[in-house]
Amino acid sequence: MHRPIQAHINLSALENNLQAARRRTAARIMAVIKANGYGHGLSRVAEALSAADGFALLDIQDAVQLREAGFRQQILLLEGFFDAEDLALAAEYDLACVIHSAEQLALLDAYPKRNTLDVWLKVNSGMNRLGFTPPQVAQVMEQLRRHRAVREITLMTHFANADEARGVAEPLALFTQLAASYKMPRSLANSAALLRYPETHGDWVRPGLMLYGASPFADVGAQQLGLKPAMTLRSRIIAVQELRAGDEIGYGALFRAEHPMRIGIVACGYADGYPRHAPNGTPILVDGQHTQTLGRVSMDMLFADLSKLPQAGVGSAVTLWGDGLPIEEVARAAGTASYELMCALTARVPVVI
Ligand SMILES: *Cc1c(COP(=O)(O)O)cnc(C)c1O
Repeated sequence: MHRPIQAHINLSALENNLQAARRRTAARIMAVIKANGYGHGLSRVAEALSAADGFALLDIQDAVQLREAGFRQQILLLEGFFDAEDLALAAEYDLACVIHSAEQLALLDAYPKRNTLDVWLKVNSGMNRLGFTPPQVAQVMEQLRRHRAVREITLMTHFANADEARGVAEPLALFTQLAASYKMPRSLANSAALLRYPETHGDWVRPGLMLYGASPFADVGAQQLGLKPAMTLRSRIIAVQELRAGDEIGYGALFRAEHPMRIGIVACGYADGYPRHAPNGTPILVDGQHTQTLGRVSMDMLFADLSKLPQAGVGSAVTLWGDGLPIEEVARAAGTASYELMCALTARVPVVI
């Protein structure tokens, strides 16, 4: 008998979510599978999403692995290349590269081969993370267009607030005005923009989060968007404690029982990727019933309130997030985002397909 924690990855949910994206856009879909497919496993995610028109990620070795596994669609390196060696490898494996910096332009200038590389020119439309500012773009574009190594150029930007009330109006206007001078493919939309702002779709959309079945919005749930959770983190209760009034639990004694009550000890802790800062009251399912965590999450265990679940005991099934308990709700209670929870799943958690 193993420790009972498991991450269940639902491949048909991934396919469903890709179709949900398809139904909303005529643009080509660049499935974002960075960070090990948002924690779901790179190759299994790529397989499940093989109907996507492209894949976007960061690590060139991962990209090469996809090519060697036979994926023929566009593969985009979201941070481009970091040195001459990467650049040569990208050209060899036909990996499109985001170009966001003067340093990358200099590396490109030193690259001898002709007509070998597709590039995505990244415009900084206000996020101030990566990319060229609008006044820099004309010159960079000239350089890329004249460059012997460059094949196709796509213009791209990334939104900072597509999932917030502020939306995309400002950066969209900026980018649209800039792009009007160029006849080339455009890419702007992450999941939130794909779902909420059809005017951003352009030629390529770049959904990540929604493909894994989570909503990017605070006010709309994944189910309402037709998305299904691809990851369900499950475990079991491995011990039960009967508390008396005044008893405290866990490190730091963050919870104190007002009345006699039962609590279950769940085999899941922060070393599995559950957030240590999840407070008392974070939602959790025991035997399919909604209840809450209590006390501080420890490395390998956490506490579940069983006071309204008299039938629950050792061996009861626990869902930390996923099917029946949207990851967004757990993230919100823990003061984080579903992105972070998905990526935080650790290597010791066995994955079940
Ligand atoms: C991560 C990322 C995306 C995907 O964003 P989601 O919010 O997960 O849809 C799209 N574009 C870029 C440049 C990214 O870094």
